[in-house]
Amino acid sequence: MAPERHFFSFGNGGALRYHSLPRARKRRAPVFFHDDTMTLSEIAAKQAEALSEISAAADSVAIEAARVKYLGRNGLLPALMKGLRDVPPAEKPAFGQALNALRGALSAALEERRAAAETSAAPKVSFDFSMPGSWRGTGAIHPVSEVIEETTRIFARLGFTVADGPDIETEFNNFDALNTAKHHPSRDARDTFWLGPELLLRTQTSPVQIRAMLAKKPPVRIINPGRCYRRDTTDATHAANFHQIEGLYVDVKPVSLADLKSTLAHFAREMMGQSVQVRFRPHFFPFTEPSVEVDFTCHVCKGRGCAVCKQSGWIEVMGAGIVDTRVFEKVGYDPECYGYAFGMGVERIAMIKHGVTDLRMLYGGDLRYLRQFL
Ligand SMILES: [Zn+2]
Repeated sequence: MAPERHFFSFGNGGALRYHSLPRARKRRAPVFFHDDTMTLSEIAAKQAEALSEISAAADSVAIEAARVKYLGRNGLLPALMKGLRDVPPAEKPAFGQALNALRGALSAALEERRAAAETSAAPKVSFDFSMPGSWRGTGAIHPVSEVIEETTRIFARLGFTVADGPDIETEFNNFDALNTAKHHPSRDARDTFWLGPELLLRTQTSPVQIRAMLAKKPPVRIINPGRCYRRDTTDATHAANFHQIEGLYVDVKPVSLADLKSTLAHFAREMMGQSVQVRFRPHFFPFTEPSVEVDFTCHVCKGRGCAVCKQSGWIEVMGAGIVDTRVFEKVGYDPECYGYAFGMGVERIAMIKHGVTDLRMLYGGDLRYLRQFL
């Protein structure tokens, strides 16, 4: 049947022309010109073959290789298009349609395969961005650490520097230099953890003050927070292991109780709020003379009287006083120096601040309790 012309047989002169240009033809389309007798049905078969090859392409590299093979500059379709000019005019429309259909089908198949490959190559994340996040907890500063940091900040602004010392102290630094009498009950093994005849776990942070004065001549203005140890039975207000913050100011010029009171009043307002009042009550400590106990107005009732302050309106917060001249002698200072010292329990301040009634809550590690400070 005449219309079923061979696409690449060039009519009557086809063989002649083909053979006259064998090299050029073969170079341009080495793959597809193995058969110079492609008919419409062969084009259809080629299309089916190409489509199955494209659909089998596993990744973007294989897809691109298929595109080059069929639609690329030296691929099948351009070669077929070029051959179109030699098709007899009567058959051109049918061949043209077949080639257009081939181009459309291959392009669509390539595009579809490319999109599918991109989708499958994308990481498979099953994440719903509209879901509320789960909170992992960032942690918070423990109330005891918070009091230490806040107190240190307040006194640092007044010119105090932070001093530190070891937990294991000598008897001299912990008792003798602080003018503690030889028979004082605090030296007893039932009150103090002794590590030997001369060494002990410090019962207070005051030895740091001794160390500071031994190391430096006046003026000395330090704040020393730290851990202390006493053989106390743990209960709601006592622990064998607790923290103190002490302060010391020594100068060669007069330092008075009035200076101490104004300093502590400033601290009280910064720590507890501007309405807090401070009062001194006479007391005794071996290393200060005169000595006072320092009360803040009750943070619960603001001084009117309540169960927390036992109806007094005041809360005892710390001990203080003018440094005893015997302490100056022990550290080699001129007894004519002036100075004040004060000390407070960190846990006590934290309990007052946060309304904690049992000291053991601070160290129990109970997350239900600790989470309220987050
Ligand atoms: Zn009260």
